[in-house]
Amino acid sequence: MKRLHALVIGAGIGGMAAAIALRRAGLEVSLFEQTVAQREVGAGIQISPNASRLLGRYGLGDAMARVAVRPTAIVFRRWQDGRVLGREELGDSIESQFGAPYYHFHRADLIALLADAFGPKDIKLGRRLVDIEQDESGVTAHFQDGASERGDLLIGADGIHSCVRERLFGEEKPRFSGQIAYRGLAPAERVAHLRLPLDVTNWVGPGGHFVHYYVSSGRFLNFIAVSEEASWTREQWSDRGSVSDAVSNYQGWHPQVATILTAVDETFKWALFDRNPLPRWTQGRVALLGDACHPMLPFMAQGAAQAIEDGATLAASLRNMAYDVPRALQAYVALRKLRTTTLQERSQAFSKSFHLPDGPEQIDRDRTFAREGLRGDAEAMRRLYGHDAESATAAQGER
Ligand SMILES: Cc1cc2nc3c(=O)[nH]c(=O)nc-3n(C[C@H](O)[C@H](O)[C@H](O)COP(=O)(O)OP(=O)(O)OC[C@H]3O[C@@H](n4cnc5c(N)ncnc54)[C@H](O)[C@@H]3O)c2cc1C
Repeated sequence: MKRLHALVIGAGIGGMAAAIALRRAGLEVSLFEQTVAQREVGAGIQISPNASRLLGRYGLGDAMARVAVRPTAIVFRRWQDGRVLGREELGDSIESQFGAPYYHFHRADLIALLADAFGPKDIKLGRRLVDIEQDESGVTAHFQDGASERGDLLIGADGIHSCVRERLFGEEKPRFSGQIAYRGLAPAERVAHLRLPLDVTNWVGPGGHFVHYYVSSGRFLNFIAVSEEASWTREQWSDRGSVSDAVSNYQGWHPQVATILTAVDETFKWALFDRNPLPRWTQGRVALLGDACHPMLPFMAQGAAQAIEDGATLAASLRNMAYDVPRALQAYVALRKLRTTTLQERSQAFSKSFHLPDGPEQIDRDRTFAREGLRGDAEAMRRLYGHDAESATAAQGER
């Protein structure tokens, strides 16, 4: 049988993980990225066991362990006095429960190890997709430089502003969530006096929250400071931010917050956008993946993890459907949609509850944090972290 040729658009975390998974499933893969050099923002990312399990299977276990930090717990603290509101164990506890580690990465480290696994020279940089055409026998990608490529299927892993999505289903701007995030990386020696444990700490308070955790084998402390802002008028959705503006959003908060914020030389400011769940992710030989089809607010730290799951399910669906492309893409969407929609909705709900003013609703929320943390009871944790995006697909193939 002729080997299928997949065109993957976008070499972010989702596109690269999908490219690796598709190649493992026996496809020839061409991976295209619009930027001329792969780069990631100077920021951290949490990768939970549902995703690290898949990356481990792709042969990245040792490489991940070398550059990542394995946090001991997620700790929720009250904005004003730092009182601990809830704690969920990670570290050995989560790894033995779900058979894969919870990791914190510097984004550049994660991008580099995925690129190494796919083959950095195989990533076609400086190729911006501008149009697609498909017929019964294949799909053609047209690039801004005038070149075209023909394949059997095309995967749009081109992020929240996806061109592939727009070509399939028309233009629809993502929605500004009313929240902005300042992000930064503080050299560990500048915060050493705080003696922070290897936790991910999440300070919650009126109108904002503040998350920090170590990355790059403990060399940097990453922070994400989310606060509310009425509008985002700038054209671009990320911008250099001012440390003093970030600090002013946390007046009256525990002094540790300002200490961490002022330990960086520069900070970047991001507008947080999302979309309602999309009715369709696929048409014929083209399908969407990752933020292109299910962008989610970062409150559950699942956007990239879900993009990695997408790639595994996509590859397994192609195998299970005997490489019948349109059927396999539909099977992929059927397997992924409910899970990612649920996580989009839960992330949106947390965007309100993390920022509650002090009062009866906040007291209720704090009781929930104390009882079951963020991810819910043991069954909810099993559904989130125990999910195996490859074997769930195999089970569907057997039905
Ligand atoms: C503040 C914040 C914190 C977060 N924290 C976490 C976390 O802890 N854990 C987690 O799992 N997720 C987290 N996320 C979400 C996560 O970052 C995203 O879900 C994930 O990076 C999406 O990956 P992607 O590959 O789908 O899209 P992207 O990372 O957006 O990649 C898309 C790629 O496509 C390229 N591209 C775009 N258009 C074209 C074109 N026309 N032609 C060619 N290439 C193109 C882009 O240049 C880019 O490289 C966070 C998000 C934010 C904003």
